[in-house]
Order: sequence, then structure tokens, then C-alpha cells
Amino acid sequence: MRPEPLTLIATCDLVAMVRGRAVPARDLDAQLATGVGWVPADLSLQPFGGIVDPNPFGSLGDLRLIPDPAARCRVDLGGATPLDVVLADLHEPDGTPWSACPRGFLRRALADLEAATGLRVRAAFEQEFLLSPVGDPAPPFSLEALRRAEPFGSLAHAALTEAGLEPEMIVPEYAADQFEIPCAPAIGLTAADRAVHTREVLRELARTLGRRASFAPIAHPDQGGSGVHIHVSLVDSEGRSAMAGDDGLSEIAGAFAAGVLRHARALVALTAPTPASFVRLQPHRWSAGVAALADANREALLRIPTPTTIGGRDAAAQLRLEYRAADATANPHLALGAIVQAGLAGIHDGLAAPPVLVGDADALAADELADYAPTALPATLAEALDALAGDPVAAGWMPPLLLEAYLGVKRWEVERAEADDDPAVTCARYADVY
Ligand code: GLU
Ligand code: MG
Repeated sequence: MRPEPLTLIATCDLVAMVRGRAVPARDLDAQLATGVGWVPADLSLQPFGGIVDPNPFGSLGDLRLIPDPAARCRVDLGGATPLDVVLADLHEPDGTPWSACPRGFLRRALADLEAATGLRVRAAFEQEFLLSPVGDPAPPFSLEALRRAEPFGSLAHAALTEAGLEPEMIVPEYAADQFEIPCAPAIGLTAADRAVHTREVLRELARTLGRRASFAPIAHPDQGGSGVHIHVSLVDSEGRSAMAGDDGLSEIAGAFAAGVLRHARALVALTAPTPASFVRLQPHRWSAGVAALADANREALLRIPTPTTIGGRDAAAQLRLEYRAADATANPHLALGAIVQAGLAGIHDGLAAPPVLVGDADALAADELADYAPTALPATLAEALDALAGDPVAAGWMPPLLLEAYLGVKRWEVERAEADDDPAVTCARYADVY
């Protein structure tokens, strides 16, 4: 019997899992207008299987998952059938967009930004992951690490290219069996869609090779973390960057950065959203130790990567903000949408650009550091969720149904981790499913 190639019509949900319903690929065109059915309570699924109880939905309601053909990812890795996923938006059965759709959250944030400023977001997600098993650990960044994992790296490049995700390079990373594959920046929604697809293509490739790619924030408290660094720039309708001013960031980019710092405590609830995230999110892990804007500093929440001027390259065009307090337990649509909303709040309020931290944060006395990082990042998910619920501006970014569902799932995760009573056990549980 010949297998029927299937397309999964999918949503990336509140716990960043890709879930949906599969139809024969040859029928997809016929499904574009009406999509497939979906269940509201599925939004309250926690990462380990069940639907959290209570949740705002119960057993009631019906939705449609309407595929976006621009968000299709298809790649043939030589298995029985190609990997074929198309991301969808959640709608009411009459076609009205559903207020709690995570992808809709990013759509609204981008539309709000464009309406207020005429600008769009260009973004790239730099994602780290662990590949297992590869045998004895090889030295960080080494040729040995790259070659020991072959043909993973070369197939990953080919697969991501075939999927249209524009991989830029393969980085054997610092931690044992850790890799990073940055993909080219893209505009708004496409950038977040790419982040979702990149993870799934790499997971599929690892599966095909009898391995596993884990994007969990940290597999064990004693190991290095895997981050998702979100590079953001504001561009005009022609794609020209609006990031550079006469001396550093432009006024609008400075206000955007200030908004991100002002709402950082709430933002983290959406970008580093599991108990395991907070094991990674500690000082001296090069994740994000200080909620500051900093020049070329990998300990900062917002880093300004140094542009290259080799060969007369345009430094201003490369200027961007790198948000470092994210990981792959975060839904990319929610994470980017929240960063955009925070930046937009800074623009609305006309905030002045934050001072740029130059040099090592550890060299500063506490009162000096406070000039750059007036707030501390939350130490736990519980603290971050309270910050989100208690920040009226940030809480207002999400429609009430989305916020209620989100807090419900995430507070369940806090309780589950408290029951573990051991960060190593919690990290391992997340590493098993992400
Ligand atoms: N692995 C670090 C993190 O958790 C990032 C290291 C790097 O800068 O590449 O974010
Ligand atoms: Mg890295």
C-alpha cells in the first residue's frame, strides 16, 4: 500500500506545541477557505498532555483552523512521506477571528505598530538546541563536534533550505551536543512562522536519523542553556531600517527599547514561560542576567550586536536589538507579539532611549547598575506571571480570554514544578517534551 501524503493544518499553541488535524495534501486547496474543526479547550493543553482544569472553555464551543498558505512548510527527508505543515489562524465558525488565537495576537501587534508608526518589524530567531545521542561530548565550537554529528549539519542545511527557511550557518555551540542554526530575518508574521517551522524541520530530521533535537531551555541545572535570541529591527514599507540615529539608536528605536525594558518583567512571562526557563535565565549564563540595553554584551536582556564595517559595509543598516530572554518553550507568535507591544508602548509614551551599558555589568556598584537596569528580571515563573497580571499595560495586550487561558496553563506548570521540588527533575521533564 502506498502512504497518502498528509498536510497538518496546525496552530502553535500557548505552550509552543504544534497541534492540528491532518488532511490529504492533495485536498489542501479545497480546505483553504473553511479549514478544519478545532476545540477551544485545546488552548488549555499543558505541555505534558492534559487540559488544565479549570479553564475558560470547558466542553463547549467549536472553532475553525483556517490554513495560511503563506505559512506552509514542506520538506521531503526521504521518509515514508514528506513533512508537511501549514500554520493556521483560529476563527469562529462564522469566520470571525477568534480573540484567543496566538497567531492573531502577533497579527494585531504588527498591525498596531504599522498603524501607529508606518513601520514594520524585521526579525530573526536564533535558536539553540541539543542533539542526542552523539556519543562522548566534543569540545565547544569544534570541528570535532560538527563532524561527529554528521550528516546532521549538512542535511539540516539542505532541509531548511528546501523548506524555504533560509538557514545561514550551522554553529556547533558551547554546551555538549548543542547546535544553533540561525535563519535569515523576515518580516513580521513570517519571522515567527519560520521559528516554528525551523524547530519542526530539525526535530523531523533528528527523528529520521534516529536522534532527538531538544529545544528545552536547559536539560539539567549544571549544563548550559539553549536560548532563542530574537533579533528585531524596525523598517519602513520599502524595507529601509529605521533603527539608526545620528549617534546610536534613532529616537523611535530608543523609545522601542525603553518600552521593552519598562515591561520586561511582564514580557518574560511570555518569552521564558516555563519553570525550566528560569533555571536558564540566571546571571553568568549568557542568557539574560540584567534587564538593560547594552553594547555587545551577552548578559543583557537587550543587546546591540556590533555591526561590521569591513569592506565599507553600512553599519546603520545592520543596527538591531537582540532580545535574549526567550527560549523555545515560548510560542514565537506570542513572544514577538509581546516584544512589539512593549516597544510600541514605549513609542506611545514617548520614552527616552535607555542609557546604553558599555562594559561589564558586574563591574558596577548596585546603584550604578540601577541607572541601566532599574528593574530586576523575575526569578521564577510565578513572579513573572504576577508581573504580567499586575502590569495593566501588558495585561491589556491580550484579549481577556487569551490572558485567562494563558495564566491558567502557566500557573498549572508552576504548581507541577513545585510538586517536583527538584529543578533537575523539572528540567529533565521539559527536555523530554521540547
Ligand atoms: N546558550 C546561551 C543562552 O542560553 C547563549 C549563548 C550565545 O550567546 O550564543 O542564551
Ligand atoms: Mg548561540
